[in-house]
Amino acid sequence: MSGATIPSAAADAPFGEARTYQLLIRVARPLTVTVGRFGTFDFPAGWYVYTGSAKRNLEARVRRHLSAHKTLRWHIDYLLAQPGVAVREVRRFAEPECALNQRQTGDILIPGFGASDCRAGCGSHLKRLPSRLSFRAYFGRDRGPRRFVAGCSARRGR
Ligand SMILES: [Zn+2]
Repeated sequence: MSGATIPSAAADAPFGEARTYQLLIRVARPLTVTVGRFGTFDFPAGWYVYTGSAKRNLEARVRRHLSAHKTLRWHIDYLLAQPGVAVREVRRFAEPECALNQRQTGDILIPGFGASDCRAGCGSHLKRLPSRLSFRAYFGRDRGPRRFVAGCSARRGR
């Protein structure tokens, strides 16, 4: 089994408005993964955040990421298919994916990963976190899911 852990259904934007999602990914032990023709890379154990988007039917995309049985297509598919890799949380946003990704703290270990379609210079749409706690700290501990997006917009000068 791999990638099949069902995460809590956090929703940071109302379902109908969300176009962007983040997956909080746990890699339980160090891995070396061949990502299709992109290359073979080492993934240290730890916590990762993947930021993606779907113009239509975001929920179907999220379900696909959580499914253990699928054709490997995107870079992230190859990581999620590994034993010991699980999606622990899913968050949804109305914010454009690259803006969100660039605000996301974390280290880029694999330049270009998940960024084949990126035109914003993100470098990678997969980032490794110093700890799971840093994901919590970034979003705040006890915010209501929708209040976060509202507060974020307000801080950005609306
Ligand atoms: Zn980007």
